Amino acid sequence: MDYIVRATAADHQIRAFAATTKDIVESGRVYHNTSPVATAALGRLLTAGAMMSVMMKGEKDLLTLQIQCSGPIGGLTVTADSSAHVKGYVQHPEVMLPPNAFGKLDVGGALGLGVLSVIKDLGMKEPYVGQCELKTGEIGDDLTYYFATSEQVPTSVGLGVLMEKDNTVKQAGGFIIQLMPFTSDEVIDRLEAKLSNVKSVTALLDAGMTPEQILEELLGEFGVEINEKIPTGYQCDCSRERIEKALISLGKKELEDMIHDGETIEVGCQFCNKKYPVTVEELKSLLARSRR
Ligand SMILES: [Zn+2]
Repeated sequence: MDYIVRATAADHQIRAFAATTKDIVESGRVYHNTSPVATAALGRLLTAGAMMSVMMKGEKDLLTLQIQCSGPIGGLTVTADSSAHVKGYVQHPEVMLPPNAFGKLDVGGALGLGVLSVIKDLGMKEPYVGQCELKTGEIGDDLTYYFATSEQVPTSVGLGVLMEKDNTVKQAGGFIIQLMPFTSDEVIDRLEAKLSNVKSVTALLDAGMTPEQILEELLGEFGVEINEKIPTGYQCDCSRERIEKALISLGKKELEDMIHDGETIEVGCQFCNKKYPVTVEELKSLLARSRR
């Protein structure tokens, strides 16, 4: 069962999140039949989306993390609601690359150059959009850079996905550690020293650590207080109604062409690949609705 913990340390000078997301990442892999490197890339972004969703305050708030990039994966999208339901997809789930110089899945190589966008729909007229260039394409580094430049919050983001030999997901998870504006220099220096010496999140996950244990490992010397444990999961909210709306939004010309072809079409959901067949009769009634 996947979950996120929200914690504070050093008398609220540090706030932290950690998550275990094995089931979420495995769901993403199964829905999209992703290659190992695409599973790792999507899994890291799903993990980040799950943790960042917990930062939103409103019940109807929606978070979207989008990466547009020049590498062979083409791009990734993850959305999360404030109940920590996440879903996502990659442009090219089949991408295969040789391991990187460290013998690991080459997520940075799959992404290449690009832009990370963080879109928060907080129920205002316009959504909040923050953007930054990809630093390394490893996603954790890119989000660290995003928080520093776009939100001006010094942050350390660690994300990891480990595979079994059969390419199913063995472990997945991560952490986000943030400094509050009133954090003392002494705490900042100690935390920097600690984080530079700590094993990678992948190593922590491989050791079978829970989110609580990961935070204890990283922040134990500062006195960690776990405030909340929040269940999280992969959930798609697609429906026939949404698919119909999407078809109507294509416009009359497009609908007329499909009716003219005279065959039942199949519309797939981008996030979960569920197929919705739409018959010619149904297309005709959608056309009639679009004329209203
Ligand atoms: Zn769906």
